[in-house]
Amino acid sequence: MKALVLREYNRLSYDDVPEPSVVPDEVLVAVKACGICGSDVHGLDGSTGRRRPPIVMGHEAAGVIARVGERVRGWAVGDRVTFDSTISCGACPHCRRGEVNLCDHRRVLGVSCEDYRQAGAFADYVAVPQHILYRLPDALSFEHAALIEPFTIALHAVRRKPATLNDTALIIGCGMIGLALLQVAKLSGYGRIFVVDAAADRLALAAALGATATINSVATDPLAEILRLTCGTGADHVFEAVGVAPTVDLSVRAARKGGAVTLVGNVAPSVALPLQLVVTRELALFGSCASAGDYPACLDLMARGALDPVPLLSAVAPLAEGAAWFRRLQVREPGLLKVILAPAAA
Ligand SMILES: [Zn+2]
Ligand SMILES: [Zn+2]
Repeated sequence: MKALVLREYNRLSYDDVPEPSVVPDEVLVAVKACGICGSDVHGLDGSTGRRRPPIVMGHEAAGVIARVGERVRGWAVGDRVTFDSTISCGACPHCRRGEVNLCDHRRVLGVSCEDYRQAGAFADYVAVPQHILYRLPDALSFEHAALIEPFTIALHAVRRKPATLNDTALIIGCGMIGLALLQVAKLSGYGRIFVVDAAADRLALAAALGATATINSVATDPLAEILRLTCGTGADHVFEAVGVAPTVDLSVRAARKGGAVTLVGNVAPSVALPLQLVVTRELALFGSCASAGDYPACLDLMARGALDPVPLLSAVAPLAEGAAWFRRLQVREPGLLKVILAPAAA
């Protein structure tokens, strides 16, 4: 089969590789669409240590079951599916509590780190265990279904601390996750929803998606603007969807006394925290990682049109052209959000 392989850092090549073998509890999925995640782009240059070559990346995918292992029940060849990006073990204490994203033996598709190497879905075929599969509603195309995974990240983050009706939300970062957060927050009881980003085109998209106000962090002092918009109090709930020191700092400063900050962005391994602000203002800090049990709701919401992937989908391109699209994302070409790669067989 063909796959887009990270041969060495910053070198992706579209190669012939062996088809994955399928163990008894797995299915082989013929990939129809797979999204390029920000973490794949960050992984490309080795800075995260989570994409050690050689590796086939790709964890935001949808396709059709092409083969089933001998112990697979309830799934058949031809079924249209997506799957969790996390492979959980099902047996550890966290899995038993339903916290599959916190699994002690967690593997992420398309990731290779110190502990494991798990081939992903930038390939004609990917093998996945049956317990992470989800059936696609008929109304969902493969391209749109490939955006389910980032929407589950947003849904999970919003569920970490449910809104009190009419709470004010602030979303820092209008990349794919920030814009998915905006859509999910709109469904979740928030009143006003403000967004911050440095890119005018992304802010325009956020405005079109229903943000109450957009704040350009290059043109204005974002903290002053947030305080102005909230009559000096700050936001009830801040979602940080960038993951670097200045934006984490802003997220803490922009939360009201007694408010909450949910940290979703995950780029810098550590950042300085304004400790006294967190303590004296009694802020609640939440981390949010991947998702746990959020797929069925996301699939249903998207199939019914309550979540709209269309404004976030920049391009659908052949998998063979993947290396060039990674480069365009790496240099942050304006206007590019989610790029979907489709294998030739699709
Ligand atoms: Zn991702
Ligand atoms: Zn587990």
